[in-house]
Formats: sequence, C-alpha cells, structure tokens
Amino acid sequence: MIITFSILIFLFIVIIKKSWIWHIFHREKVIYLTFDDGPQEELTQKILQILQQEDIKATFFCVGDAARRYPHIMEQIREQGHSIGNHTMHHLNGWRTPHKEYIQDIQEAQNYLHARYFRPPYGKITLRQWRALRKDYHIIFWTDISYDWSPKMNPKRCFKKVRSAARHGGIVVFHDNPKAAGNMLEALPLFIHSAKENGMTFKTFD
Ligand SMILES: [Zn+2]
Repeated sequence: MIITFSILIFLFIVIIKKSWIWHIFHREKVIYLTFDDGPQEELTQKILQILQQEDIKATFFCVGDAARRYPHIMEQIREQGHSIGNHTMHHLNGWRTPHKEYIQDIQEAQNYLHARYFRPPYGKITLRQWRALRKDYHIIFWTDISYDWSPKMNPKRCFKKVRSAARHGGIVVFHDNPKAAGNMLEALPLFIHSAKENGMTFKTFD
C-alpha cells in the first residue's frame, strides 16, 4: 500500500515539476532559486558571495545537523536576506524511513531552522508523510533541477538542465554540497545571467 502511494506521489511530482505546467499557472516572470543540503563551511560563503554580487535572494533548504554545526553560517544566510527551509535533520529518504522517525527528524531540525517550508531529500515522500507535514509546512518540490551533484555532468550541461526556467520561470535546484561544487559554482552564474537577460525576477519562499 505504502509503495503504491509512493509511486502515485512520485508520478504526481514528475507531472507537476514540468516547467510548462508551471508556466500555465504562474504568468509572472519569477524564479525561486533554491540550494539544498547546506550549510557548508566554505561553499555556502561562495554561494552567498555570488548572490550578493548579483543582488538576488534565494532559499536555502538546510539539513538540521549541518545548521547545528555551523550556526554562524546560518546567521550569515539570514543576515543577507535569504530564506531558510527545512530539509530534515539527517537528510533522510522518506521512502526508507518509518513514519514516526521521519516526522520526528524534521521536528528536530526545526530547533535550528525555524522554517515554514519543507523539501523532502531526494524528492521522496510518502502520502502519509505528506499529509502529516502539510499541516505545518508548505512542501516545495521543483520545476527544474541542475543535476550538479552528478560526476557525469559538467557546468554547461547543468546550465542546460535549468535553462528553461531562465526563460519561463520556475523553482530551480542547485546544491550547497561539496559533491556539486565544481558544477554548481560555474553553472549558477550562467543561469543567473541568462535569467536576468530574460527579465526574470528572483523571489524567495518566506
Ligand atoms: Zn538534499
């Protein structure tokens, strides 16, 4: 039963995340730029520097355990006017974690994040988890993902993956994660410049 619901939710995500459907419902030229998995000691600073240079705001879906380790980085993110979302305490896979444990992990992360928005790691969440969480959170997936963490990718290909959002708007995912750094730090400015050329506005979830 749980597997069936998970598959349904997965299909639902696959369908709603497509940019063209986003475009039908969102006529403004808006981009929600999001960074998952942070904060990190050095990488987050580099992202913040790029965002400051470009004068745009973003949303960081942070892992509670990392926020606990780097409170000064969390403060910097907030000080610079960006938003914080919850990405669980230990980056759990909702499909592989018992219900109670999953919900408790997210609640634990709230001690460090105080967020109203939640993004499930790997985009994997069961219907039961979703129903429990939607009372307290807006659950945010994405329309365009850069695959910046993949060793098979390069910065140009990552940019191509999210280019449609630079034209039509949407919710874009990059990763504040050392695995993604090489691709992300080059693809991010390409994306931002392209979006600006297309007259996009950057908004945050807050
Ligand atoms: Zn993640």
